[in-house]
Amino acid sequence: MGFTQHKGEPPLIDTHAHLDMEAYAADREVVLRRARAAGVVAILTIGTDEASSRQAVALAERDTDRGEAFPRLYATVGVHPHEAKEARASTWEALLKLSRHPRVVAWGEVGLDYHYDHSPREAQRAVFREQIRLARARELPLVVHQREAEEETLRILKDEGAEAAGGVFHCYTADAEYARAVLDLGFFISFAGVVTFRNSEGLREVARLAPLDRILVETDAPYLAPVPHRGKRNEPAYVRLVAERVAGARGMALEELARATTENARRLFKI
Ligand SMILES: [Zn+2]
Ligand SMILES: [Zn+2]
Repeated sequence: MGFTQHKGEPPLIDTHAHLDMEAYAADREVVLRRARAAGVVAILTIGTDEASSRQAVALAERDTDRGEAFPRLYATVGVHPHEAKEARASTWEALLKLSRHPRVVAWGEVGLDYHYDHSPREAQRAVFREQIRLARARELPLVVHQREAEEETLRILKDEGAEAAGGVFHCYTADAEYARAVLDLGFFISFAGVVTFRNSEGLREVARLAPLDRILVETDAPYLAPVPHRGKRNEPAYVRLVAERVAGARGMALEELARATTENARRLFKI
């Protein structure tokens, strides 16, 4: 383990946060310090379009001067299904170039979102396929976003040979049967604040059943704050609450769950 232990808090990695967002404009440094004090040794800040991918890389680059009081920052680059309609040839050139930065550890977030349909489904599918090819070419794991598009997401991943890239289904909310298919494809399952919600019994069942060496934890901050912060701004320090709930569902100690998920993140993202 390359990370220094901090005051008895078990080390955790928040594998999915949007640190570039306006929600942190006023107090990003404070938020990052709070994360480190809560045991968060590293955070992946996730790109959703060309601009946010660029900002993610810039944030990750800047952290080298920050020192021990801050978590390590890594970036991903990609176009979220919501933004699919904006992608063009120049987007892929820009993201490919950004993806060569040493702090870029995955391609994403990519996928299908048929709940909001912010982009036409045809555009979402084309942009998803394109990015699986790019991730494969760059040998980067995929960060997959899936909402109300379960079958099609799996079908496209299989079609495009995504197994070769590997990756994670982030903010997992589907059922145990779908989890089996995701695991069979070689992907990881990442739990976010939803696992702490009162009505998420089914999701806690997935957390209980999933193999320990294939699960990750995340916040998806600033969205989806875990209980007791539900409805407020989320932040990476709260990944601990997610980890506690997953550990609780499995009947494990937080320390053991933290050790496993941190090792999993290091293995998947090669950090
Ligand atoms: Zn997402
Ligand atoms: Zn996200």
